[in-house]
Amino acid sequence: MSKHITHWIGGAAWTGTSERRGDIYNPATGKVTGTVDFASVAEVDAAVGAAVEAFASWRNASLAKRSQVLFKFRELLDAKKDELAAIIVEEHGKVHSDALGEIARGQEVVEFACGVPQLQKGGFSEQASTGIDVYSIRQPLGPVAIISPFNFPAMVPMWFFPLAIATGNTVILKPSEKDPSAAQFLAELWKQAGLPDGVFNVVHGDKVSVDRLLEHPDVKSVSFVGSTPIAKYVYENGTRYGKRVQALGGAKNHMLVLPDADLDLVADAAVNAGFGAAGERCMAISALVAVEPIADELIAKIKERIAGLRVGAGCNATSEMGPLVTRQHADKVISYVEAGVKEGAELVVDGRLHPIDGDDTADGFWLGPTLFDKVTPEMSIYTDEIFGPVLSVVRVESYDEGLALINANPYGNGTAIFTNDGGAARKFQNEVEVGMVGINVPIPVPVAYYSFGGWKASLFGDTHAYGAEGVHFFTRGKVVTQRWLDPSHGGINLGFPTNS
Ligand code: NAD
Repeated sequence: MSKHITHWIGGAAWTGTSERRGDIYNPATGKVTGTVDFASVAEVDAAVGAAVEAFASWRNASLAKRSQVLFKFRELLDAKKDELAAIIVEEHGKVHSDALGEIARGQEVVEFACGVPQLQKGGFSEQASTGIDVYSIRQPLGPVAIISPFNFPAMVPMWFFPLAIATGNTVILKPSEKDPSAAQFLAELWKQAGLPDGVFNVVHGDKVSVDRLLEHPDVKSVSFVGSTPIAKYVYENGTRYGKRVQALGGAKNHMLVLPDADLDLVADAAVNAGFGAAGERCMAISALVAVEPIADELIAKIKERIAGLRVGAGCNATSEMGPLVTRQHADKVISYVEAGVKEGAELVVDGRLHPIDGDDTADGFWLGPTLFDKVTPEMSIYTDEIFGPVLSVVRVESYDEGLALINANPYGNGTAIFTNDGGAARKFQNEVEVGMVGINVPIPVPVAYYSFGGWKASLFGDTHAYGAEGVHFFTRGKVVTQRWLDPSHGGINLGFPTNS
């Protein structure tokens, strides 16, 4: 049966009729499974209107009430994670265990946000001047927009909305049109958790809805995650309209392998981080920088592991890697494989030939794990973010050459070093120009009480997602200077107030 996904406004599914719609696919079969409404300006305005109305009371809901709702949401999310994972698998294509992993990482942020009474505390200085106390408070912004990509339909929205809601804001989420159902499911969970109507709203759609959110005067901030060109566009336009914007962009993550590393550990890590979620992770490793003389041995180990990988529909328990998200994206990734061969890289493993498990997969959007050797920095498979299961090995002669390569890259999301030399790892952590660094850890996504964000073309704005920076982003500071009048302090004094 074909599903129809529509907006969630004011605590209920939208009853209007959208004039524009998109198809939803199951990437494993290539079949259309439903449609999703694309919001018009009027529909976005209705969602923002609901968020404005709800903000008037939610901003004053007690900290106790807010954390109770968050605890309840966390319990429901945990209880229903298998159901949500199945929804993600059907529209995104990733395997079920991977979908559970993204839910778990999003749940971590919900758990962090449950501590809002502690997180939103201000400071107090008694007797800052004689008879005067000074204190700071942090207040919510108002309705905030979250615009998310296809690759983590549950986790990325949960990088933002738990803290936005916990700190007293109301939310309009615009998820990816490619896998919209997870947002719908999360909206229903909020309702069951007792969140007042209008605090969490979802509008589906494309550029029309994004542009309206950017310009709408009642939307106070924008949290965006997606590709670099759109992140830049969102940052430039959102700030032009006077909004606070954090816009996380694309990536090209390097893994630097020093000759003293444990090559079996490295081969496992490279395969996991290169091909997990079919390489459709912003923290995927796409460039493996091998400091010679280890490349031949390492490539042999990676090749052996790739041969054993089970590629098939994400809903099959035996699958380790699923399809790409759309036919168009699969074609684009395959065109990079062709370009790599043409540009002279050595195709060690051709993912176009990898067997696909299961029935009904003939029309799915497949590409198996692909490995290139002897990749050079000028080749398009190196310069571009491919966002697919294509791992490029670049051979270098020294740590310094590897570091220079990483630092010259326009992206700076994540990176990792593999070595048994603590001094080298410490030097790397100090010198590398990347926002998230792993030491013998290939996908260093920070835990919820730190913050997630890259450098350079991987982040526009200065605030990372979740953790203390997330609390800061979704609140604005106010400092109060108070004096309870003592008659002896009266009198006229036109001078600028100083401390005494
Ligand atoms: P995308 O940029 O195509 O889409 C992201 C969002 O922007 C979607 O909601 C989409 O509807 C909207 N959008 C698309 N085109 C638009 C336009 N012209 N104007 C306005 N809005 C538009 O990204 P995607 O393909 O969904 O996701 C993959 C990208 O996201 C990759 O580049 C990946 O690296 C990046 N990503 C980054 C991070 C990070 O933390 N830095 C995390 C996840 C994904």
